[in-house]
Amino acid sequence: MTKVVLGIDIGGTNTKFALVEKGGNVVDVHKFHTHAELPFDTFLKTLHENIDPVLKDYGIKPEELEVGVGCPNYSSVQNKLINPPNLSWKNESMLEKISKGFKKVIIENDANAAALGEFRWGKAKGCHNFAAITVGTGIGSGVFIDGELLRGHHGLAGEAGHLVVESDGRICGCGGKGHFESYCSVTGIKKTFHEITGKDLTYREIVPLYKNGDLDALTAFEATADYFAIGISQVVTLLGVEKIILIGGGMVVGEPFVETIKSKIDHYIFPNLQNSFSLELSNLALEYGAVLGAAALVLEE
Ligand SMILES: [Zn+2]
Repeated sequence: MTKVVLGIDIGGTNTKFALVEKGGNVVDVHKFHTHAELPFDTFLKTLHENIDPVLKDYGIKPEELEVGVGCPNYSSVQNKLINPPNLSWKNESMLEKISKGFKKVIIENDANAAALGEFRWGKAKGCHNFAAITVGTGIGSGVFIDGELLRGHHGLAGEAGHLVVESDGRICGCGGKGHFESYCSVTGIKKTFHEITGKDLTYREIVPLYKNGDLDALTAFEATADYFAIGISQVVTLLGVEKIILIGGGMVVGEPFVETIKSKIDHYIFPNLQNSFSLELSNLALEYGAVLGAAALVLEE
């Protein structure tokens, strides 16, 4: 049988897991609610309640299974979560706890894992300098420089979600002010829409409004695109990447939105770097991208 690994993508809202085989082929994928407000041990119990029956169905023994986990604000340098804005878990020995019963477990920052998935199977194949920006409950980013994942001294290098895009702006989930994430994540976009309309709609309700040309939704996404352009311009100026790949559930808004961001980049970027990079949507299914990246942590090509 071809080697199968388990990829787990822990998100602030949902956790996805997938059985993945060589070449990035997804054998099976599932998701459940993370309930990040509950203790980590409760999450672990729910994780096993969801995973164990699936493994049983495929005749896979956990003790023979290698597992890759992507988790927001996880530092693989320090092997711990660092002040995660969208998870209530603190000081957890996550690696030790998740590893129990499996052959091998690697945990990596979720955006780093997503970048690895892009490098292996997605739009960054053959590209040595790029950033993958994940747009979900929060904003994460994984960066490859000269073909290597950028981790930095503390393991959180390239966390673009916490770049400042508005001086004295909104309070971010991390406690900082005016961060990229507080405007451009799904949470941020919903807040912007609320500020314009006074309505609390879900992201799934707002996106079709935008696609159908609703003026309020257009205004909200126009403002969001501006913040994206500010954040992306800083990433490109600082890191000299040749590609920025947007990935994650927030990107269901699609290509027209990416074009709007592109139209605003030149307004902010160092002029020498205008047209120096491409901004693209991931071609990995948005639903699978991050979980594929998690699987890539333990799946050699
Ligand atoms: Zn922040």
